[in-house]
Amino acid sequence: MDLALLLTIVIGVLVVLAGSAALLAPRRRRLPSTPGEPALRGASDVDDRADEDSSGGGVGTLELPRGSTVDLDDGLDAALLEPTLERPEPVAGRLVRLRERLARSQSSLGRGLLVLLARDRLDEDTWEEIEEVLITADVGVGPSMEFVAGLRKRVQVLGTRSADDVRALLRAELIAAVGTDADRSLRIARHDGRPAVVLVVGVNGTGKTTTVGKLARVLVAEDKDVVLGAADTFRAAAADQLQTWGERVGVPTVRGPEGGDPASVAFDAVRHGIEAEADVVLVDTAGRLHTKTGLMDELGKVKRVMEKHGPVDEVLLVIDATTGQNGLIQARVFAEVVDVTGLVLTKLDGTAKGGIVIAVQRELGVPVKLIGLGEGADDLAPFETEAFVDALLG
Ligand code: GDP
Repeated sequence: MDLALLLTIVIGVLVVLAGSAALLAPRRRRLPSTPGEPALRGASDVDDRADEDSSGGGVGTLELPRGSTVDLDDGLDAALLEPTLERPEPVAGRLVRLRERLARSQSSLGRGLLVLLARDRLDEDTWEEIEEVLITADVGVGPSMEFVAGLRKRVQVLGTRSADDVRALLRAELIAAVGTDADRSLRIARHDGRPAVVLVVGVNGTGKTTTVGKLARVLVAEDKDVVLGAADTFRAAAADQLQTWGERVGVPTVRGPEGGDPASVAFDAVRHGIEAEADVVLVDTAGRLHTKTGLMDELGKVKRVMEKHGPVDEVLLVIDATTGQNGLIQARVFAEVVDVTGLVLTKLDGTAKGGIVIAVQRELGVPVKLIGLGEGADDLAPFETEAFVDALLG
């Protein structure tokens, strides 16, 4: 045989073999550190797959983000086109930075109580006014009555009261009402060779997607590799919104087709997190309160399907602090559907309803772990009882 022909055949076979090896190689890699990371779209519907073993199959096809027109082969310098990554603010001390955002709660709840307690004579009417202030701030009727009873006893024991005494006493009572025993830490550490998995649930409009985006930044600030899952497939805008949050800090988003199965996306997100050796997978969900059964079926399925990869470590329920009793009723429905492990109270900025922290923990028996204090990207703070009470008291 002609030597040249033989060489061509050998080279051809080598090229084909090299190509197959590349396809078969495991796709393990650290997560990207640059934005503009493509969205990851789930390859198929989990309905077929969810009941099978989760092994095999890629995480999904890589597609350029919507609107992207960049062809990296056309000679342009890709580096020049990359937007600059944002550097999220460190997490420690955020509540202190944001404390003036509690201004309205501060003046109505904190200062309101201080003024009333400073009166010379604390008669029945004053105690009723104190109770009124608490109820107006959404502390809840039962907890407000208990609070007043406790306060009355302490005031009696105290006898004469200086302004400092009153303040110290109120501070102690508020700290006790909010609670210091609960574990407010987030379970966000890799364990058993896999990422921590966090599911975020709540009624639409409460600030769920925003919270997932802000939380991703909190984690990035702590040097964690994060994967986002856009399991709110009912609104394309929700997935776009989430992806944008991710891109700003170099975090990839796994998403599915609009109207697709949310459980499928959640499943793919966790799988991608495992394959990419991420630290945390954060999954955003839809919170349509159409019917309780519908919600139960949908969220229940999302969680069950995610658990095919292992347990979900944290289920965060997002509650809009401005919705008061209504928000509490809705929250109860969610808590019945999934085992909530932590609460996120959003929109505490500019509301006089800071007392909701006490009511909601009481109602659901779950600690507030994070609070939203504004629309800014880093306006989410880990909840700390003492810092919160100090902010309320001004
Ligand atoms: P979702 O439907 O539950 O995912 O809600 P979104 O995340 O889309 O948020 C709904 C609106 O609430 C958006 O305009 C957010 O900017 C706003 N929002 C979320 N968290 C906060 C917060 O802590 N404070 C304020 N003032 N607005 C917030």
